[in-house]
Amino acid sequence: MTLKKVLPYAHELMKEVLKEGDTAIDGTCGNGHDTVFLANLVGETGRVYGFDIQAQAIDSTSDRLREDGMEDRVELIQDSHGSCMNYISTAHLSSLQGAIFNLGYLPGGDKSIVTTPTETIASLEHLFANLNKDGLIVLVIYHGHPGGQEEKNAILDFVSQLDQNSFQVLQYNFLNQRNNPPFVVAIEKLKPENLNRSL
Ligand code: SAM
Repeated sequence: MTLKKVLPYAHELMKEVLKEGDTAIDGTCGNGHDTVFLANLVGETGRVYGFDIQAQAIDSTSDRLREDGMEDRVELIQDSHGSCMNYISTAHLSSLQGAIFNLGYLPGGDKSIVTTPTETIASLEHLFANLNKDGLIVLVIYHGHPGGQEEKNAILDFVSQLDQNSFQVLQYNFLNQRNNPPFVVAIEKLKPENLNRSL
């Protein structure tokens, strides 16, 4: 198959933008797959900040990182990604190059605990302001669960209004898949300034 499925495509995009020594954010650690992926990309000298509101997710991500010997380069935080800027050190902020958000509920966990448009968009606003030029945010949007449609619509509405001189916004989705297939939204910051959506 030539066309990549959404998760491999999301990872491919992160590979393009992250290099050894960079700082990256996993906005939704879940079972830690993306956190480990980012930790590999930023290497021993890089830093990953991983957020999740559930202790179960932080624990399983921590276990996975320990198994792979990468716990030293990752800071796991049990808090909302909407508060991400409270945790990132000034030293790491200057190399903030990428972030990934895998939205929805924790696979194998409580399906009623889901990402919300308010917190997701708050987090995007913070990242728009603090990401480096050419930095990339990748959202994998699952929307088949209760609340998923509202979050999908709110995010699409929000990112569609970003100024094209400041951000490039891409949507990657399969048009003929049934049952609310997930899709990718990627946002690249084009300017070095401290940007927000009104610029
Ligand atoms: N990336 C994960 C992986 O590789 O396994 C999967 C993430 S899962 C689809 C979504 C996660 O988002 C859940 O673990 C849930 O607890 C978390 N979550 C929900 N709201 C959140 C918030 N405001 N801040 C951070 N994490 C949140």
